[in-house]
Amino acid sequence: MFSGGLDSTAMLVKLLAGSEDELRVHHVRMVNREGRADAEQTAVERIVAWCGKHYRPFRYSESGLDFSALEAIPIDYMAIAYVACQVAIDTPGCTRVAVGTLARDTDEVNRSARQRRVFDTMYECYRARKLGEAKIEWIYPVHSLEKSEITALLPPELIKLTWSCRTPVRTPSGFRVCGTCKACRARAGVPTEPQILQVPAAPA
Ligand SMILES: [Zn+2]
Repeated sequence: MFSGGLDSTAMLVKLLAGSEDELRVHHVRMVNREGRADAEQTAVERIVAWCGKHYRPFRYSESGLDFSALEAIPIDYMAIAYVACQVAIDTPGCTRVAVGTLARDTDEVNRSARQRRVFDTMYECYRARKLGEAKIEWIYPVHSLEKSEITALLPPELIKLTWSCRTPVRTPSGFRVCGTCKACRARAGVPTEPQILQVPAAPA
């Protein structure tokens, strides 16, 4: 499950460079009142293209959840569990789901347990229809890494393509980071941190 952020990209690089696993990389386009979907999408497309060229080819897909009419911001990790289940069922022979969760994330242990619970409950419904593999394991390839280790793992050129800000500010040429959201604060001081994201203007 791939978001286009720093941790997620480090996970992707680890799996591409450090394993022979056949990967299906999936991005959930999360449309909500934060307004981050377009910035994330642009980052994801650029990272996927870069990694396919510099590491090895892999299958990529995406889906979207549009909550833009809601005032409340849905919880990401539950949305990820929900989509991961559909993607697992859609991927013949899939036995593992990888997420870029870090041990240092707030409330990580409880969140990961809840996320797997949502997934397991849904997956059971498919298993009752004899779909999917008997067992699915969740893996956390970058779980134990510190932020410095995450950035050390990534070529600077690739770091520049990642996007973390949850509430980007739209500019005439693309987006710039807000600098104050949780993701921006967690990312402060990362070398070659992107501050702006140039997006080609949409065709008139
Ligand atoms: Zn931000």
